[in-house]
Amino acid sequence: MSLRMIKDVLRPRDISTHCTLCGRSTSQQPHTQEHIFPLWLQQKHGLLNARVTIPNFTDKQYRSVKIGICGRCNNKTFGVLETRLAPAFTAADPFDTVSRQDADTLAVWLGKIHWLMARKSHSAVDHRTRHDKTPERILPGIVLDGMLYAAMFMRCFATNKGMFSCHLGDPPVPEFFYEAPYSLYRFRIDERDGRFETFDFLNNAVVGGVALRSGSVGLICLFDGGLHRRYLSERYRYLHGQALHPKQFVELSAHLFYDQTVLHEDAQKVTYYWNEHLRAVVAQTNTPRTWNPYLQEYHDPERHAHMLGFYTQQDPKDILSEDGRLFTSLKRLDGTFLPFAVTEEELAIARGDPTLQVRPPADPAIRRRLFEG
Ligand SMILES: [Zn+2]
Repeated sequence: MSLRMIKDVLRPRDISTHCTLCGRSTSQQPHTQEHIFPLWLQQKHGLLNARVTIPNFTDKQYRSVKIGICGRCNNKTFGVLETRLAPAFTAADPFDTVSRQDADTLAVWLGKIHWLMARKSHSAVDHRTRHDKTPERILPGIVLDGMLYAAMFMRCFATNKGMFSCHLGDPPVPEFFYEAPYSLYRFRIDERDGRFETFDFLNNAVVGGVALRSGSVGLICLFDGGLHRRYLSERYRYLHGQALHPKQFVELSAHLFYDQTVLHEDAQKVTYYWNEHLRAVVAQTNTPRTWNPYLQEYHDPERHAHMLGFYTQQDPKDILSEDGRLFTSLKRLDGTFLPFAVTEEELAIARGDPTLQVRPPADPAIRRRLFEG
């Protein structure tokens, strides 16, 4: 029964005939229209008439970004999540209330937006290829293949099953070796800078990453079998307990998405098993636990600058120094966290700080404020 479920997820069906979350056909469960971004979230941030700034959705308003999913997923399984999370995200200090939610709840919720966005883009034919024999989808099928981790996680939740990840060669001891199949990071957002919207959303289908900022809370989740959490979270420890400016949150999301591009190919291969005892799918990464699959030799400063520039809307050339270093708004030269200067007093201190990177920041607005007074 559930081995069949695994195979079914690996062959995603047409979203007009099957629910992309639970896999049930429309003949079993008729479809209902679901807002990919929940209405309560749109209302909170005044997004109803706002245009989505995500590539491929440029001409759409948030309220029109919908997809058909079955009534059971919409109203029951995933509806329960919305009922739990809406009060947390709309509370006075959402960082506080959202932080009290368990990681699985947040990861499923983010994964749902991420996966539905990908399926929605995949369902649309790329206008430029409409006369071709096989027109390409806006999000090509090959990209969708890279999102199967998220898809499997959604299917497990939608059908009331668990999901864990493990490594090649792990002993069969669930208590020690089965882990959450994602890397989830939560941050407090510094909301003092009134020039920025209270909401932001970024995702990358190729690397299976999603980031969402809502008021004082920022969440970044990678559907990666927990690899980033295991091997790279230490690299970002300097951010622990710090409040990130909205610009810093975007930059950090871009770094985390980039990190996933230096993974060895074997770490991206996953074998799925059904564990009857746990009623769970176990996703086994095809590299051993003792080996860090993030490879320095795959690092490419130009690709890094390109990704960072894409998300922060800067010219990659302005971010990359000649010796291959990236300008960052997150860190001082000594490796400690660099608080984003917002008030005049903070700007004055920042201007006299010798541990700041000497290269002027690329963003003209920051440069003006920091270096030109
Ligand atoms: Zn469903």
